[in-house]
Amino acid sequence: MAAQREWYEKDYYKVLGVSETATAKDITKAYRKLARDNHPDTHPGDDAAEERFKEVSTAYDVLGDDAKRKEYDEVRKYGPVGGFTRDGAAGQQGYNFNVGADGLGDLLGQMFGRGRRGGGSSAGAGPTRGADVEATLTLDFPDAATGLTTTLHLTSDAQCTTCGGSGARPGTQPKVCSQCGGRGVVDDNQGFFSFSSPCRACAGNGVIIDNPCPGCRGSGVEHRPRDVQARIPAGVADGQRIRLKGRGAPGRNGGPPGDLIVECHVAPHKLFGRDGHNLTVRVPVTFAEAALGGDIDVPTLDGSSVVLRLKPGTQSGSRHRVKGKGIVTPKHTGDLIVTVDVHVPAHLNAEQRAAVEALAAATTVSPRARLEGRS
Ligand SMILES: [Zn+2]
Ligand SMILES: [Zn+2]
Repeated sequence: MAAQREWYEKDYYKVLGVSETATAKDITKAYRKLARDNHPDTHPGDDAAEERFKEVSTAYDVLGDDAKRKEYDEVRKYGPVGGFTRDGAAGQQGYNFNVGADGLGDLLGQMFGRGRRGGGSSAGAGPTRGADVEATLTLDFPDAATGLTTTLHLTSDAQCTTCGGSGARPGTQPKVCSQCGGRGVVDDNQGFFSFSSPCRACAGNGVIIDNPCPGCRGSGVEHRPRDVQARIPAGVADGQRIRLKGRGAPGRNGGPPGDLIVECHVAPHKLFGRDGHNLTVRVPVTFAEAALGGDIDVPTLDGSSVVLRLKPGTQSGSRHRVKGKGIVTPKHTGDLIVTVDVHVPAHLNAEQRAAVEALAAATTVSPRARLEGRS
């Protein structure tokens, strides 16, 4: 239960600068800001910032997850499950009770978290899931719309390349602990109660490494740069987080790896905007096209164009839908929403001026007179 020991020692609330009663929203907000301020991409080579970033991520990994936060709060209050007593702190903290006869055992078991772990058979050496790892990815607008497969370059905890994660020096093997037979815990029968406490010989790991790997000093995990192939689905939105199962830090003692969480940033496009799965675009048209109607070319995101037919009397600012030319995902087909802007020329030549003057002369009721007439 290395994680719980770490939990007990670390004040994640302090790391994120929030109170213990902070709401989930406040915690996420504090985390986002700190992660942004200390992100390795913006502080290349700054070890202190990277360390801070890791610390903040670890804190959020726990406090950002309701179930984990609850567990963390309990560990902070009651002490870790199985095996950690502060020197001199006598008593029951840190032990599991295996009691058969009445409800007392269940009560105590739950109090110390045994219930959640589904039995106390390996209190000190339970498989521990690896930590989630966070990364950010900036995408072009078209790539975000269509999705892409890309390689993320990140630095995180990963399986040690020297020992392949065993923690033992290459050419040697970790050996099963003879004291606990690999269980990581030893039982101590005291009449009615049977205590199980973590094995001292192997520190609860169940194995003993005589020759630790020089690369990871026996942990099986090293912090190193690595490349991860990621499939980003079509239609990802700015700020959206994508969870890639099992691509995070490796688990301990046979536990599953954590996930890789990719926060996507989508760069704006100079022509197109987004409204959910719909794309938006503004297209200038002449007064004649708007008044008389006609076919206009409308650009699409893939670089081609479609023809939009305007009815005579199309108003400036009116919106028109081109079906199926928005963001297309397996579940949604978005449309392209075209806003028509009637363009007023800044300069007229003599011929144009004469034509507009003729139009003015032929206009019997001005829109403004109509407006005034109503008031
Ligand atoms: Zn190693
Ligand atoms: Zn042992």
